[in-house]
Amino acid sequence: MAKPKPKTARGKTVAKKAAKSARKTVARKAATRTAAKKVAVKKKAAARKPAAKKPAVRKAAPKTTTAQKGAAQKGAAQKGKLVYGFGDGRAEGRANMRELLGGKGANLAEMANLGLPVPPGFTITTEVCTGYYDNGKKYPKDLQAQVDAALVKVEKLVGAKFGDAKMPLLVSVRSGARASMPGMMDTVLNLGLNDTTVEALARQSGNERFAWDSYRRFIQMYSDVVLGVGHEHFEELLEMHKEDHGLTLDTELKAEDWKHLVGAYKKRVQQELGKPFPQDVRDQLWGAIGAVFSSWMNQRAITYRALNHIPASWGTAVNVQAMVFGNMGETSCTGVAFTRDPSTGEKIYYGEYLINAQGEDVVAGIRTPQQLTKTSRLAVGNQLPSMEESMPATFRQLVAVFQKLEKHYRDMQDIEFTVQQGKLWMLQTRSGKRTAKAAIKIAVDMVKEKLIRQAEAVERIDPASLDQLLHPTPDPKAPRKVVAKGLAASPGAASGKVVFLADEAEKMAQKGEAVILCRIETSPEDIHGMHAAKGILTARGGTTSHAAVVARGMGRPCVSGAGGIRIDYAAGRMTAGDLVISKGDVITIDGSTGEVIMGLMPMIEPQMSGDFGLLMGWADKLRKLKVRTNAETPADAETAVRFGCEGIGLCRTEHMFFDADRITAVREMILSDSVDGRKKALAKILPMQRDDFASLFKIMAGRPVTIRLLDPPLHEFLPHTDADFDAVARGTGLSVTALKERKKALEETNPMLGHRGCRLGISYPEIYEMQARAIFEAAVAVSKAGGKPVEPEVMIPLVATKAEIDILKRRVDAVAAAVFKEQGRKVKYLVGTMIELPRAALRAADIAQTAEFFSFGTNDLTQTTLGISRDDAALFMEDYLKAGIFERDPFVTIDQAGVGELITLATQRGRSVRKDIKLGICGEHGGDPSSVRFCHNAGLDYVSCSPYRVPIARLAAAQAAISDEKASEA
Ligand code: ADP
Ligand code: MG
Ligand code: MG
Repeated sequence: MAKPKPKTARGKTVAKKAAKSARKTVARKAATRTAAKKVAVKKKAAARKPAAKKPAVRKAAPKTTTAQKGAAQKGAAQKGKLVYGFGDGRAEGRANMRELLGGKGANLAEMANLGLPVPPGFTITTEVCTGYYDNGKKYPKDLQAQVDAALVKVEKLVGAKFGDAKMPLLVSVRSGARASMPGMMDTVLNLGLNDTTVEALARQSGNERFAWDSYRRFIQMYSDVVLGVGHEHFEELLEMHKEDHGLTLDTELKAEDWKHLVGAYKKRVQQELGKPFPQDVRDQLWGAIGAVFSSWMNQRAITYRALNHIPASWGTAVNVQAMVFGNMGETSCTGVAFTRDPSTGEKIYYGEYLINAQGEDVVAGIRTPQQLTKTSRLAVGNQLPSMEESMPATFRQLVAVFQKLEKHYRDMQDIEFTVQQGKLWMLQTRSGKRTAKAAIKIAVDMVKEKLIRQAEAVERIDPASLDQLLHPTPDPKAPRKVVAKGLAASPGAASGKVVFLADEAEKMAQKGEAVILCRIETSPEDIHGMHAAKGILTARGGTTSHAAVVARGMGRPCVSGAGGIRIDYAAGRMTAGDLVISKGDVITIDGSTGEVIMGLMPMIEPQMSGDFGLLMGWADKLRKLKVRTNAETPADAETAVRFGCEGIGLCRTEHMFFDADRITAVREMILSDSVDGRKKALAKILPMQRDDFASLFKIMAGRPVTIRLLDPPLHEFLPHTDADFDAVARGTGLSVTALKERKKALEETNPMLGHRGCRLGISYPEIYEMQARAIFEAAVAVSKAGGKPVEPEVMIPLVATKAEIDILKRRVDAVAAAVFKEQGRKVKYLVGTMIELPRAALRAADIAQTAEFFSFGTNDLTQTTLGISRDDAALFMEDYLKAGIFERDPFVTIDQAGVGELITLATQRGRSVRKDIKLGICGEHGGDPSSVRFCHNAGLDYVSCSPYRVPIARLAAAQAAISDEKASEA
């Protein structure tokens, strides 16, 4: 493999630049250092005070609002301060300064303040990164002096000196953005090693192997991340060395081997770059710092930010931290842990560690990691001892840290640690990514444990993530042909065609195909393919592997480490035992059981019970907005009721016209050339519509049902094939030629703005009259049958003027009166309109004199307000998002400034003439969490969304109410 990474070129220039500036530093350092030290010491003394009486917990909780964070940060950030130190039981930063220090830096500071063992270090702020890009990739003048001063403090705390020939200080250089971006940035370990300091490290540790192992790791990492000489170069050299010497495992290599390899590595770097591997430790440091800042703009990071709506303007911080060593022998290790199970939420310690290893070894899949606890070791059937068994005393320390951190942060933590010769060191903590299922269980458990309140539990669940719980799982009763078993890495099931390459997954998904991305293991370069896939399968890797972590974050089902599967990328196939599975074959993966199943599986509907039900109950108590559903079929209505909908906000009657057994009658109605002909056809449709409405009324059992009268242009229903025409000819008695003529006459240039909506009702009164009759007859029938009282809401679409609704409401009322008289029974009903044209919004005060409710049809309202055809927007929406013209797709998330203003205005004007006017929204936006928040703020009565989004809207509505409450308290 050549050097594929885009960061390569950039890494090089930055390295050069940084090296240059570092040389300058060296020249100036004698002068600046002493001065900087004085300032820094003073500042530290000043910073200590507030840190000491910092308010407990609350502010540290991960879900503080932006406003809170901003305020706290303003209080703490010091002007001109670019570098914040930590270590030795105190820190200049704290957890609520993540905007300035990045997540990693802020939490390292917080852990130091808590008195936890954190190797000392310092954080270069995100503002330096932002400034770096704003000022043509230049650092602020004062940065070098501040870094030097901070480094001196670290040297003092550790008792070693950077670049020293006797007691060398080694550091790691770690990126850390505000929001965690797993695998997006590269960390360099063991920085400060060169041909001199490696000898010192060997002497001082009394462990030559360790020293040379560290050096070869450093050369590889630094070359890869900073110099753009890819890791494959070094892997190749390592493989060759092993082969030549008959070695298989890294652990078998001795000091001599590593020493030899360091020589070979350096030679390779020289060959590739035409210059030697940097020996000046300050060149090394600035090179690494520059690489972190550059990585903010590498393709992987850009993709991740785009997928997660993280603005580029946030920038990343850089953490420089004294090294501790997990590769110092059998009493040393490195590990990752979660304080609860991130898949299920169960309250167990969950994680993996590796003895005599460093950094990313655990997740890199080079050696099989070992389990933290004995229980989980037994559960996964791992022969190697758990940490609980092999290092019981250190494990107890670790457990104490888990407990302290959970209590402090009041949330499940994702932790990285290293043990150096029996001593535990904490390297990272953050609130852990989790599946929706785990999120709910953890939140509910924490309420029971009295760590958090119900409202906080509700706030902690990302509404969009509920999607994971609302989708079908394989029917346990159906036979399943399990061909392999891996780890249940991210729950949920998915079926799709097998693909092996991320690019291919993306291409096929764009064509609307369901695919399962199958990889030996995944890396950050695969993100786009993982996103496009319905599910992810890897042959290698644990439950904290890249695939597992990213899949959980994205809510994709994932089976990882399916050891029985062999993947051959070149051949485009994989094998499971004797079975060959080729690209394009359909498989099902079950991320809740770890099973890989051949073929498509029948799925069963999810249930909202247990913790999920409990949490939704809390949400319901808190929210102000009601949640309805958009449904026209009994199946959809039933699903929505199961998911807690409080009525139907939009029943699109035309969907009832499409059924095979009625489409001919509909066509007869449209194509007949007389009122009588139309009435005859409508009479055939009437009983069918009546039955449809009756069954919806029954299912909704007293909940309100909004029925929209026919909306789309008639040509959508026209016949296409000769057989279609024959059928209509038979029904109407008209000739096929005449019918074809009539079809032509109905054609429109721009149907979206043509003869549709209430315009049809104006032209063809009999259509809406039939529909109104069907509605009222059904309502009367259902209430006569003793069901709960039915209250239909008849909705007239595409109204622009008061005159339209005046005419049409009069007709609906007349039909109602007639039906009630015939039936000898009345039902309550409302007649209202959709607001989906800007004129209707502007003239809401007129329209509300007649309309008894408004439902904002935000799909069309967005289309008509922006003048963007929603059917054609896809052609250029990407460009608009990329150019930053829209932050979000306005057809997904309400354009608050434009469309939102119309809604607010129509709400005010409507209420000004009709105080109790019912207001709702029925566009796709009704299920989009941030649009739901907008609807809450706009004071609507309800949102209506598709059945599967009902729980999402319920939760989003509760969160909107909570933050509203908070804002009014503040
Ligand atoms: P990421 O953001 O990708 O998790 P980190 O900056 O956390 O990257 O670094 C990855 C790993 O490198 C850490 O989990 C830890 O094991 C190791 N590491 C980082 N800094 C140090 C250090 N100062 N001493 C020992 N190990 C370190
Ligand atoms: Mg980390
Ligand atoms: Mg519409």
